[in-house]
Amino acid sequence: MRHVAEPERNTEILSEAEVVVLGGGPAGIAAAWAAARQGRSTLLVERYGFLGGMGTAAGVTNFCGLHANVHGDMRRVVRGVADELLDRIDALGGLNPPHSIFGRTQAQAYDMSAYKCAADELVLGAGARLLFHALAAGVVMRDERSIDALLVETRSGRRAIRARLFVDASGDADLANWAGARWEKGDAGGRLLYPTLMFRLNNVDPARAAASLADLPRLMQEAEAGGRHRFARKGVILRPQQHPQEWRANVTQVKNEDGSAVDGTDALQFSAGEIEGRRQIRDYMRFLRERVPGFEASYLLDIAAQLGIRETRRIAGAYALTAEDVLGCASFADSIGVNAWPLERHVAGDVEWHWPPAEARGYNQLPYRMLLPRGVRNLLVAGRCASMTSPAQSAARVSGGCFVMGQAAGTAAHLALAAGVDPAAVGVAELQAQLERDGAWLG
Ligand SMILES: Cc1cc2nc3c(=O)[nH]c(=O)nc-3n(C[C@H](O)[C@H](O)[C@H](O)COP(=O)(O)OP(=O)(O)OC[C@H]3O[C@@H](n4cnc5c(N)ncnc54)[C@H](O)[C@@H]3O)c2cc1C
Repeated sequence: MRHVAEPERNTEILSEAEVVVLGGGPAGIAAAWAAARQGRSTLLVERYGFLGGMGTAAGVTNFCGLHANVHGDMRRVVRGVADELLDRIDALGGLNPPHSIFGRTQAQAYDMSAYKCAADELVLGAGARLLFHALAAGVVMRDERSIDALLVETRSGRRAIRARLFVDASGDADLANWAGARWEKGDAGGRLLYPTLMFRLNNVDPARAAASLADLPRLMQEAEAGGRHRFARKGVILRPQQHPQEWRANVTQVKNEDGSAVDGTDALQFSAGEIEGRRQIRDYMRFLRERVPGFEASYLLDIAAQLGIRETRRIAGAYALTAEDVLGCASFADSIGVNAWPLERHVAGDVEWHWPPAEARGYNQLPYRMLLPRGVRNLLVAGRCASMTSPAQSAARVSGGCFVMGQAAGTAAHLALAAGVDPAAVGVAELQAQLERDGAWLG
């Protein structure tokens, strides 16, 4: 590897807070909301100019993991911050009613712009501050095991942000990585879940399009046999948004030339992946318009701002959630809430689903220890980069689990500061009591 030496420099301190949250996805939104509502001075740092993470920047526009089929009773099991956020999105007219997923659970689509506005209001309303357009680029350590400041690149130049406690909700464990926490990537064979570049289309004929969905696999097969199309994956998801003519498409699968999944922490792969994603979208749009009843007059409304990354680094924390925990609907004494989504593995060319048995209660608890990295004292890690095995991450990475982890991380940060202890020493009973007072359901 070749290098250039950078000159040493002093970096201006832009801001100080008790709690700094890196990343404004569902985990970061929830963490900032939770810490701020306990009265902690809280700053959320985000590289884009809006909140929502993959839910907005990657065009996901659909909440999974909020509902569970609890012995035949289909209900919302992720509460607390999720209640307030969904109410705010609904008040802006941006929330669809829940829809069925294979008759086994539910998900709920939303309007991306309403989510952005609702998330601003939610986080600011709790008393946190927001710093947009700030790309975190490193840390300064106070000692080997404690972070002193987060370094960010902004339009004003490089700046430092000091805090007593940090929450890494970057999705990629950026902060944990710079601070020296242990992490893993991929499954036992090093394979990551494949990313997807999402898009939305408009002017769909809703009734005819809905009637075509069951026939889509056959139509795709025929189109491939005809030689005009080559699709990257089966198991495509096409669904209406709030306006029935507007649909979202989760159909691409973005790989490197050697067939492996694009790694969102590799600069060159990530860049090339955007171009490959757009190539696949153009091809899929042509297919829809030419061959699928209901989509003949549809047009491409927008392509997400970035390739949707499902999995990169996961910290190796005090406890790693496993696939057995998800499929066995595990309970934990240090529960912070629940995951109610099955394993959803975006593997080469397909999507594999693995569900808990039909007679099970439909959710597993999430333990507080998932948020505790090894080797760094003043850090909590929440969201898709928390401590889970790769198969378990394919479940708890969805929005529901990320809201749960984020709310717990922000609440634990407050309790750690109040008691003058590291997050690892926070009293679990006290944490659970506060989460319940703030509306969370611990399962
Ligand atoms: C294509 C796709 C489809 C999906 N479909 C669904 C679905 O239908 N329903 C569902 O619930 N979930 C879905 N998911 C999963 C879900 O959206 C994500 O797993 C979830 O958003 C993760 O939340 P998070 O807060 O952990 O991280 P993210 O949502 O990834 O948010 C991380 C945030 O941190 C910011 N950030 C990262 N690094 C830095 C840095 N260095 N400096 C500054 N800011 C930084 C990012 O800009 C981002 O805003 C999907 C994911 C993908 C990719």
